[in-house]
Amino acid sequence: MKKPGEPMVSVEEALRAVLDFTPILPFESVDLASALGRVLSEEIHADADQPPFDKAMMDGFALRSEDVRAAPAELQVVMEIPAGTPPPGLIAPGQAARIMTGAMIPQGSDAVQMVEKTEALDAGRVRILQGVAAGANIAPRGTQLRRGARVLSEGDRLTPARLGVLASVGRAVAQCRRLPRVVVAPTGDELVAANQVPGPGQIRNSNGPALAAEARSLGALVEELAPVPDRFEALRSCLEHGLKSNVLILSGGVSMGEYDLVEKELEWAGVEIAFRQVAIRPGKPAVFGRRGDCLVFGLPGNPVSSLVTFRVLVAPALRRMQGIASPEGVHLEARLETEVSQHPGRTGYLPGKLSFAGGAVGVRPIPTTGSADLPAHSRADALVIVPADRETLGAGDTVRVLLIADPAAIR
Ligand code: AMP
Ligand code: MG
Repeated sequence: MKKPGEPMVSVEEALRAVLDFTPILPFESVDLASALGRVLSEEIHADADQPPFDKAMMDGFALRSEDVRAAPAELQVVMEIPAGTPPPGLIAPGQAARIMTGAMIPQGSDAVQMVEKTEALDAGRVRILQGVAAGANIAPRGTQLRRGARVLSEGDRLTPARLGVLASVGRAVAQCRRLPRVVVAPTGDELVAANQVPGPGQIRNSNGPALAAEARSLGALVEELAPVPDRFEALRSCLEHGLKSNVLILSGGVSMGEYDLVEKELEWAGVEIAFRQVAIRPGKPAVFGRRGDCLVFGLPGNPVSSLVTFRVLVAPALRRMQGIASPEGVHLEARLETEVSQHPGRTGYLPGKLSFAGGAVGVRPIPTTGSADLPAHSRADALVIVPADRETLGAGDTVRVLLIADPAAIR
C-alpha cells in the first residue's frame, strides 16, 4: 500500500533507473533455424571472397573480347561450363565456352556475351552478333565482399536477410544473447480465468494473457502464473518463484488500497526498490526494483495502465537484456489530427491511430474512457505522448508518438 505524498519520478528518470539496473544477458550458441529475432553478441566476418571466383552473370558464351571486336564473328565452342563445375580447360584465340549464370569464367576468356546476342551454328560453332567490352557480364572475385570484411555487428537483430548472410559466410551457428526468462503474475482476489464465468464482484484476468504476450513478442520465454490472491502467503510464494527468473512482472496491488500488498511483500523479500510512483498517465502507481539480477515490476492493475507502463518501462529492459543498443522503442513525429488535453503534471500516453496519406505521418487520437478501456487501447497503433508540462496539444501540432503496433499490422 502506498502512502500519501509518496515521491514520484518522471518517465525519463524511471526509464534511466530501469536501464541502470538492467543486466545484459550472457550469450549462447544458436542454430540458424532457431535464430530468427535473436540478437547477435559477436561480429560476423566474411570467411572468403564473394564471389569466390570470377563468375558469369549471364547465360551465354565466355570469350576473348578482342576476338569479337569486329562482330559478327564466328567462334569454336570448345566446352560447356554449368554452375558448380570448374572449367575443364582454357580458352584459346578463336574459341568460346558455353557458360551458365553462376559458373566459373574459364582462363583465357575476359568477357561473356549473353545468349540473346548469339546465334548457334552447327554443334561446335557459334556466331557472336555483337562485340562486348572486356569484363562484360563477369562479377570478378571479391567484388561483393573481401574475405575478413565485417558483415554483421554485435547488437544486430537477426532478420531473414541476416540469417542468409550468416549462411553465406559459413556460420550455421551464431552467438546470440540469451532470451530473458519472464514470470508474469497477475494479482487480485477478483480475478478469474478467461474460460470462467465471473461470479458477483469478479472479473476476468486480462492482464495476464496481455502482458505475457507483450513479453513473448519481445523474445522473452514467459511463464504466466494463475492469478495470485491478495494475501501475504500467496504473494510470498509467488515472489519466491518469480525472483528466480530474469524479470518478474506483477500486475495489480500497487495502489493506495487496504489490499494492495505488493510493495510491502517486495520489501519483505529483499527487493531493492528504485521507484514507487511515476509521473505517467495512465500508470502512476508503477513500482520497480531488483533483487540480485532479477528485475521486478509491479505494474498497476488497470488493463491499459499495465500495458502502457509495460511499453514505456518494461519493454526497454527486455530489449537491453538482449543487447539492443537503443532499447526505448520506436518514436515517430506525427501530425496530430484532433486536439487532446490533460491535467498537467504527468506525461500522458493516449491511444492513437496512425495514417500515412501523401507520405506524411498523421495520428488520430482514439476516444477512450480511460485506463480500463482496453478495447480502445487495442485499436491503437501508437501512443500520443503529451509532455508533463502541457495541458493541450492542438490539431495540426507535430507530436511525438511511441509506436506500439507491428508496422506490418498498421492499417
Ligand atoms: P489494482 O491495481 O489491483 O487496484 O487494480 C486496479 C483495477 O484493475 C481494478 O479494477 C482491478 O479489478 C483491475 N485489474 C486488476 N488486475 C487485473 C487483471 N489481471 N485483469 C483485468 N483487470 C485487472
Ligand atoms: Mg487489486
